[in-house]
Amino acid sequence: EEHLVIMDETAIRRALTRIAHEIVEKNKGIDNCVIVGIRTRGIYLAHRIAERIKDIEGKPVLVNELDITQYRDDRKAIASADAEVAAALGETGGAPFTVQDKKVILFDDVLYTGRTIRAAMDAIMDCGRPQSIQLAVLVDRGHRELPIRPDFVGKNVPTSKQEQIEVQLTEIDQIDQVTIINQ
Ligand code: 5GP
Ligand code: MG
Repeated sequence: EEHLVIMDETAIRRALTRIAHEIVEKNKGIDNCVIVGIRTRGIYLAHRIAERIKDIEGKPVLVNELDITQYRDDRKAIASADAEVAAALGETGGAPFTVQDKKVILFDDVLYTGRTIRAAMDAIMDCGRPQSIQLAVLVDRGHRELPIRPDFVGKNVPTSKQEQIEVQLTEIDQIDQVTIINQ
């Protein structure tokens, strides 16, 4: 197994700062926006981006969390009941969050086939009609199987299907680092 560091702490910090500025620029501010972090590491990235946007714009931005494990089209359980939708879209406090007329900015750590994002868009649109959905990822490793492309990218990393990207974030991994693992 071969590990190669492709983003260190500084590279991750700079990429997130750039993306925060790009989000603010594209949306001409941050009014009516909600940042939705996907599953584990996308959630930490979403919170980091929100902190930076608050520094840039001087106002807080809404952050929500999404666990789409149940929505993946290639998993056995596909959620369809309203209760499961609400559970997947649990806010800190449990209530489903509102997306009606909001600009939703999805944040995930790695973009690969696009199936997770498709499922995330499904879950969001089960909750209302957002004004728009944008996508930010720390790493785009290619190999899309659906017509999905990110609006904001930390780093494009062409990979083979045998390679894996490891994203480590201090919040849970004690280090900020992205490595590529060749098995
Ligand atoms: P997709 O649904 O686009 O195939 O895969 C994206 C989802 O799977 C993301 O939530 C991401 O966290 C995870 N994922 C896919 N490939 C990788 C990878 O190489 N490394 C990591 N860390 N996560 C991946
Ligand atoms: Mg993930």
